[in-house]
Amino acid sequence: MVLLPRVEINLEKIKHNAKTLKKIYGRKGIDVTGVVKGVAADLKIAAALVECGITSLADSKIANIIKLKRAGIKADLILLRSPGISEVEKTVQYADTSMNTELDVIRALSAEAARQKKKHKIILMVEMGDLREGILLKDAPAMIHEVLKYPDIEIAGIGTNFACFGGVLPTEQKMREFSRFVRAMQELFSLKLPYVSGGNSANYNWVMKTKDAGAVNNIRLGESILLGRETSGGRAIPSLYQDAFCFVAEVIESKIKPSVPYGMIGKNAFGERVSFQDRGNRRRTIVGAGRHDVLVPGLTPVQPFEILGSSSDHIILDTKDAILKPGDEVRFYMNYGAVLTAMTSPYVHKTYVYPDAKTREWYKQQFILSRVAKQEKTGA
Ligand SMILES: *Cc1c(COP(=O)(O)O)cnc(C)c1O
Repeated sequence: MVLLPRVEINLEKIKHNAKTLKKIYGRKGIDVTGVVKGVAADLKIAAALVECGITSLADSKIANIIKLKRAGIKADLILLRSPGISEVEKTVQYADTSMNTELDVIRALSAEAARQKKKHKIILMVEMGDLREGILLKDAPAMIHEVLKYPDIEIAGIGTNFACFGGVLPTEQKMREFSRFVRAMQELFSLKLPYVSGGNSANYNWVMKTKDAGAVNNIRLGESILLGRETSGGRAIPSLYQDAFCFVAEVIESKIKPSVPYGMIGKNAFGERVSFQDRGNRRRTIVGAGRHDVLVPGLTPVQPFEILGSSSDHIILDTKDAILKPGDEVRFYMNYGAVLTAMTSPYVHKTYVYPDAKTREWYKQQFILSRVAKQEKTGA
């Protein structure tokens, strides 16, 4: 059966990226946490990462943590964003660890953990200048002092984040400052910290150059595993695959038409005013996918085609000299935004490509096993 539009996911390329990054960071004493929020915690991708020896997986949505837990994925499951007070019950029930910045939330987690007769682990996120989430360094000692009074909360780590909101880079100086701070807290409070988590895919240039990673023993990687890129400058990481994901859509119209709209011009369906260069009559090809399905500007046609624009369910292409006909497939490379939207769109099929039959069988087996485990647990 031909499924369209679809994302083709090459699990072996993702595994190659994960293993290579694990080696690169491992040489500096840093463990990799696999961040799966960009793929809506796709279970086959999660299983592939665990298969590479990755022992912790993180996602920012509690719904995805629940999905991983229920599937029986064997990894420390980390909620990557502070839970809301409204999410505290599910967080304690399903997440092994959560990232936190607010005492009110931690207090609620502690009360809920007591209710569920469980210990809940937290990673305290500190602010290093990017100005998204984080406890200011000056406020951290008082906060740690307070949290240590909560019997059902365990401080499992201190983390920080770069280049997500303010674009602040994890320079050698910033990373040293972070390490100095962590060491001071460790001494002051005798903390054992399995997660001293120094950042994300933007930390690649730092890790390649640094001679001493300091106190950092963990890094949270999403984009560099999935798409082989570092995110401080958006460059491809040599020796990694950038094309583990491919978006495929079907031609639904192909005609020679003028290159400039004709008639009275107002705004388009998205309230945008668009203008076009007159290139005479051109072959215009439409594929049956659009903004419902994928972040269109995040697509790059594999063939030398040009994306002229898109609406909810159409992408209009100038296919140059190629004459496509309805039913033909057009393939696109994807950036992170395109992967994220296609993986969360209910209209896009998720398909997996395997190098051989043996590997396909292995994955199938994993999922039969996890389904059995889930049924045993729920008694279904
Ligand atoms: C998304 C996210 C990451 C992963 O970022 P990448 O750039 O995809 O590696 C790491 N940490 C936090 C807190 C995040 O929100």
